[in-house]
Amino acid sequence: MELRDRHITVMGLAKTGVACARFLAERGAHVTATDLRDEQALAGVLQELSDSGIRFALGHHDEADFTGADLVVVSPGVPQEHPLLAAARAAGVAVISEVELAARCITAPLVAITGTNGKTTTTTLAGELFRASGFATYVGGNIGDPLIDLPASNDAVQIVVAEISSFQLEWIEQFRPKVAALLNLSEDHLDRYASYQAYIDAKLRIFENQDASDYAVVNRDDQLVWQETQGLKARLFPFSRKLALDEGVFCLGSEIVYRHQGQELHFPTAAFRLQGVHNLENIMAALACGLLLGCRQAESQALLERFEALHHRMEFVREVRGVRYYEDSKATNVGSVAPALESFDNITLIAGGKDKGGSYAPLTPLIRQRVRHLVLIGEAAERMAQELGELTDTRRAASLEEAVQLADRLTVPGGVVLLSPACSSFDMFRDYEERAKRFIAAVKEL
Ligand code: ADP
Repeated sequence: MELRDRHITVMGLAKTGVACARFLAERGAHVTATDLRDEQALAGVLQELSDSGIRFALGHHDEADFTGADLVVVSPGVPQEHPLLAAARAAGVAVISEVELAARCITAPLVAITGTNGKTTTTTLAGELFRASGFATYVGGNIGDPLIDLPASNDAVQIVVAEISSFQLEWIEQFRPKVAALLNLSEDHLDRYASYQAYIDAKLRIFENQDASDYAVVNRDDQLVWQETQGLKARLFPFSRKLALDEGVFCLGSEIVYRHQGQELHFPTAAFRLQGVHNLENIMAALACGLLLGCRQAESQALLERFEALHHRMEFVREVRGVRYYEDSKATNVGSVAPALESFDNITLIAGGKDKGGSYAPLTPLIRQRVRHLVLIGEAAERMAQELGELTDTRRAASLEEAVQLADRLTVPGGVVLLSPACSSFDMFRDYEERAKRFIAAVKEL
């Protein structure tokens, strides 16, 4: 992609925007970087980019930077309906996301993984599968480092594995993964999308530029995923926990079976470290991505026997007076809370946080069956109490620490205290990691 002497505006100066601005400047573009935060808030960024030749418009946006540019690169945090993006388009200026820019500059085959839940686990695992089979692999995107850091580094890799969020897909044009995976769909981010369908449509764009030489790895057991992916141009490569498939990956007793073009491989699951049916799905999806592009059986089996769950996903913290405490701070929507509730009985569930506008009602049967006490925190507490409060003993707490102390008093030996919020953390914490740390600290205090 020719970037030299082009006038390019980068909108949003979080980690991704900073990486884009630096990359574009190094490639000889005239870069304007703009953010609503001012010089003081972005002092660190200004220092980092001080000798890059980048022009800054901070504390505000200038329309001329959008309508007069050759190209606008937009960060994933910017709402798609932003009027200045509409103005740029109306003036004939191309608007693209960072992953689009990166993909145009990457020559290695791309594996892209999306879905409402399991993206980070599956992406990390797929990356490790490729590495275990000897591929020089870059893992990035919505996890770790932005994709643009790869072309910026000039490192030679043989495969790129990217976690892709719906936001990153909003402004793609040619982004075309060799293998794209859609793990599942359930309500999320309704604070950013006009409707659930708009969120689904954004996710489905991962397949938009694929053709019959590419693969779409899709969850055969998720009816919505299956229904929405009929008619793709790419070859469908499904995975299923329930059905034996002629072509695809599926569970059969205590094995995962991979079938592709007459080849059949078996992976015994007994010694796998990742636990839970949701992780079986993540494993099948990662295996599909890996094996379709040349990962080897023995190395993959060995890797699966040493790959551990990532932090903050149903992680055991400590046992206190016969009560086990689990931290699942990464569960920020109802779809990710469900597998946690399915994993335990006699639960005291600590939930709540920043409300994303979806319904909590899908949790009704599991709360009825398994949750003895529900302790609600954060902005969403009131709406959650309205939707779920009748189902079980429901209380409020003013802080996470108070919630932990209350859970300690309520839970009888043999029970489980589970932080699985179904909400994002930004009302009370910097991010889900800070929420996790505060929970762990409160549990250690008991
Ligand atoms: P993401 O990157 O999509 O947020 P993570 O792997 O970080 O996914 O997991 C986020 C949350 O979702 C955790 O609470 C985890 O236990 C849960 N989870 C992981 N995989 C799945 C899945 N396949 N289906 C439902 N929930 C899942």
